Amino acid sequence: MYRIDSIKMKPPVNDERTELAVMVAKLTGLGPADINNLTILRRSVDARRKPDVVLVYNIAFDLTKPERGVKLLTSSRHGIEVKMYKPEEYQYQRRVGRLTAEEMRPVVVGAGPAGLFCAYMLALGGLKPIIIERGKSIEKRSMDVRKFWESGKLDTESNVQFGEGGAGTFSDGKLNSSVAGKNMFANEVLKTFARFGADKSILYSNKPHIGTDELKRVIMNMHKELENLGAEFHFECKLTRCIIKDGVLKGIRYKKNGETRERSCRYLALCIGHSARDTFYSLSMDGMIMEPKPFAVGLRVQHPQELINRDQYGAGYEKKKLPAADYKLTYKAASGRGVYSFCMCPGGYIVNASSEEGHLAVNGMSYMKRDSGWANSAIVVTVDKSVYGEGLFGGVSFQRELEMNAYNLGKGSIPIERAADYFREADADHLVKSEYTPMIKGKYCYAPLHELLPRVLYNDIKEAFTDFDRKLPGFANDNALFAGVESRTSSPIRIVRGEGLESNIEGIFPCGEGAGYAGGITSAAADGMKVAETMIKKYF
Ligand SMILES: Cc1cc2nc3c(=O)[nH]c(=O)nc-3n(C[C@H](O)[C@H](O)[C@H](O)COP(=O)(O)OP(=O)(O)OC[C@H]3O[C@@H](n4cnc5c(N)ncnc54)[C@H](O)[C@@H]3O)c2cc1C
Repeated sequence: MYRIDSIKMKPPVNDERTELAVMVAKLTGLGPADINNLTILRRSVDARRKPDVVLVYNIAFDLTKPERGVKLLTSSRHGIEVKMYKPEEYQYQRRVGRLTAEEMRPVVVGAGPAGLFCAYMLALGGLKPIIIERGKSIEKRSMDVRKFWESGKLDTESNVQFGEGGAGTFSDGKLNSSVAGKNMFANEVLKTFARFGADKSILYSNKPHIGTDELKRVIMNMHKELENLGAEFHFECKLTRCIIKDGVLKGIRYKKNGETRERSCRYLALCIGHSARDTFYSLSMDGMIMEPKPFAVGLRVQHPQELINRDQYGAGYEKKKLPAADYKLTYKAASGRGVYSFCMCPGGYIVNASSEEGHLAVNGMSYMKRDSGWANSAIVVTVDKSVYGEGLFGGVSFQRELEMNAYNLGKGSIPIERAADYFREADADHLVKSEYTPMIKGKYCYAPLHELLPRVLYNDIKEAFTDFDRKLPGFANDNALFAGVESRTSSPIRIVRGEGLESNIEGIFPCGEGAGYAGGITSAAADGMKVAETMIKKYF
């Protein structure tokens, strides 16, 4: 196959493949009919010269008449370079060692991206993993989340953080990650999502996203395949303790239907996510070595998508069939802390992502079409012990305190405030409603949100907003809408693992975001695959 990079196309691109074939023919001097199996390797939007926005493609193809290849490689027309191309394929380890005893079946704790992809690799290896998940199956969980958003009635074991699919299920389903393209597993994660039904554009879009509606369907398909491969799911089944003898895992204790049970097991992947605070405490009591890890907290901010599109694409973008624009903002405050936009959701919703009674945390989500008409992101500040004090669980306590204050400020609903009142610290009785419609999943109410964050963080965000408004005109306009608190940006804890990816307890492999080795769906899933490959190599 042959590869050409950086082919620029002016939007709107109506029939991508046909228009690309014509463009490649023009660039190479071949006829469109000579081009076969045209594959898009990468597509990105280049808006640096807005409003002159272009789509940039890397493509691969082969030739209906292979003999024309030599000329192709030697001639360079229009300054383009044609290179040979060979797709990389990950070699799965299939049907590895025999399971000589039931206790050898690996146990995967948590059915989020890390747990599911770890289990998938182990199942492909014929190891019949046992997946235990404290939350419910995706169908039941979706009903609990909808009920929570409509009535405010929270199920602390089945919510936006806990249940099949993990934290990212009710999300924007952004699949871009800092490891994509560089890490073989990250590419394999995208291929696996596509294999289970995700839109194929995730394989080449430089900002792949799947939307919560698509993600649920994909996870259901993956569930079926895992069961076909011999994996076993146990929902509403919570790991409570690990049974350890002389530094070696011997079994687990778990709670199911209110009963505490035990199971012998030798190998365990711990994929519990960043919100499993009770499990962090019990594992630390079991002697698992952990350390505090910096994370970030802040507030979500909502703007009209139209404002972001105009700022990013320039005038006239409406006619160009461009995706809802996103943004990434960073700023270094005078305090030295970093302030940045996190988990930006174009055409999305702010969601109540709480998992504890009397505590309130927000996050963002969108559907595949990203067509809510509103954009939101979290504006967060990096925090460490200098903000929340010493101690292994200092960060967890800080998160919980913020979430309790948010809950009380909003009287159980999401507290919101428009930017003008937030920055002039308006009196609670004189808050003015924003002209913007709050695009929120969950109950909300106007409240003096400016009182929530510690003063130092409030100042950092205020300072950053001046800079962000310069970069994205209108970003700090009076009606921009704040909602809080965004506290679960990543894990405040790292469960220490060695080079062999094993913890200080032999047989236990900390994995994914909760263990502090990933941030986001793709990198968590990639870490799950990496841990599975290592478990297989070491023990099977
Ligand atoms: C609302 C929201 C939107 C997000 N949007 C995006 C996005 O667009 N793109 C992106 O890349 N990332 C997004 N994220 C972050 C992403 O979801 C996480 O990074 C990712 O899910 C981490 O995967 P994980 O498997 O490590 O942990 P999790 O997904 O958190 O999964 C951990 C699982 O373990 C289970 N568990 C915990 N304790 C126990 C126990 N004791 N016993 C049994 N099971 C247990 C939990 O119930 C959970 O299902 C979002 C997160 C949220 C909450």
